[in-house]
Amino acid sequence: MSSIAAVCTPNASGGVAIVRISGEDALTIADRVFNPVSEKKLSDMKGYRAAYGKIHDGETVLDEGVAIVYRAPHSYTGENVAEICCHGGLFVTKRLLRAVLSAGAVPAEAGEFTRRAFLNGRMDLSEAEAVMNVISAQGEQALAAANATLSGSVSRAVGNIADSLTNAAAGLAVWTDYPDEDVPAVSEQTLLDTMQTAKENLFTLIARYDSGRAVTEGISAVICGKPNVGKSTLMNLLTGRQRSIVTSVAGTTRDIIEETVRVGEIVLRLADTAGLRVTDDEVEEIGVAMAREKMNEAALLLAVFDSSVPLDDEDRRLLEVCRDRTSVAIINKSDLPTAIDLQEIENSIPHTCFISAKNQESAQTFAATLAEVLGTNAFDANGEVLAGERQRQCCANAADHLTQGIFALQNGETLDAVGVCIDSALSELFALTGQKVSEAVVNEVFAKFCVGK
Ligand code: GDP
Repeated sequence: MSSIAAVCTPNASGGVAIVRISGEDALTIADRVFNPVSEKKLSDMKGYRAAYGKIHDGETVLDEGVAIVYRAPHSYTGENVAEICCHGGLFVTKRLLRAVLSAGAVPAEAGEFTRRAFLNGRMDLSEAEAVMNVISAQGEQALAAANATLSGSVSRAVGNIADSLTNAAAGLAVWTDYPDEDVPAVSEQTLLDTMQTAKENLFTLIARYDSGRAVTEGISAVICGKPNVGKSTLMNLLTGRQRSIVTSVAGTTRDIIEETVRVGEIVLRLADTAGLRVTDDEVEEIGVAMAREKMNEAALLLAVFDSSVPLDDEDRRLLEVCRDRTSVAIINKSDLPTAIDLQEIENSIPHTCFISAKNQESAQTFAATLAEVLGTNAFDANGEVLAGERQRQCCANAADHLTQGIFALQNGETLDAVGVCIDSALSELFALTGQKVSEAVVNEVFAKFCVGK
């Protein structure tokens, strides 16, 4: 495999820049552009040693700097690696890279160093994905979560789930393949317990990822409800300023107004929408259509109701939409006498929050409900946090296969059928860690990386 090289510091001027070379010939390539003052060649040095010297391209001296030597397998990629640190000017860095490429390296593709680390068994796929999260972390919790994943917390958690399923699958296979042998019968109860526990553990991983995302990246939320229930007033309460137009004329908010707000620990990417109602006004109708689209896309629905009037058909339609979604019922205008049927709301939306959006203190009541709904009050960034949507999808798919397996077992289908579901769940878990994964998936994972990582 050829040796690769790239600038692994940002494409901007700075104090120092680093060109990294990785591959079997990395050190001899580095020898061709770097002369240590000690006159001992980099390729003769031990791993984890650094040398000070001159950087050159043929006869032309480009800079002076430091080169660090890593020897396979004790490097990031698991290969021989040289890192040449020069002054951090854009031009000098480019010239150094060009010299390294002329000396025999080929340009690294996006994520290729980490890809090689994965292929050489230095890290599994879940850890490789966490590398990008460490780089893009914007706050303490995001960084702690990415570091926990990088050090293998997700791999271990998923590995434990996979081990329990592998044992169950092995027991099943022996029993179904050698029915005449004297093999102990598979206990259906044990099988059921194994699948149920695995499924619960997967749900815990998914829930923790979702709460983590609310804290680190923020989640998209839509304020929805029929006109005049107080959506704009709520938006203004949360953003702390007059952003939406508040009037007592129904249908005032026609566009979607978007804001990012912090509610306690949680970042909400919040949209206030046109009131949901059937209307003859063409412009308002477009607003209502946009509102419905936003609601489909959002991760969280904040459904607002007016507590001073009984529920009507429009409210009931909204309750129906919220039934299967992550949602909070905000029962507004608590300062007025209550005429609404709270029980009917709770039947569809278990999480309710009784507030007066006109009152500043309501923001805290809302924050507490939100933290409870999203589970962020119990979020532990040092636990296992999946590093991205791909990993979440693998867990969700595995849980689906287990649901089918549990259904099959409870409905008296053959153990073969149950075994197929367990195998499918295992394939998803192996795809998550990269133990068994198609090249297309690996390509997709590393395509999101930057060059130099
Ligand atoms: P939207 O159409 O759902 O955006 O509703 P608005 O926010 O424009 O509010 C409609 C009307 O209800 C306005 O007159 C608000 O002042 C009023 N309103 C909003 N929240 C409250 C509240 O908590 N208590 C009372 N009494 N009135 C409110």
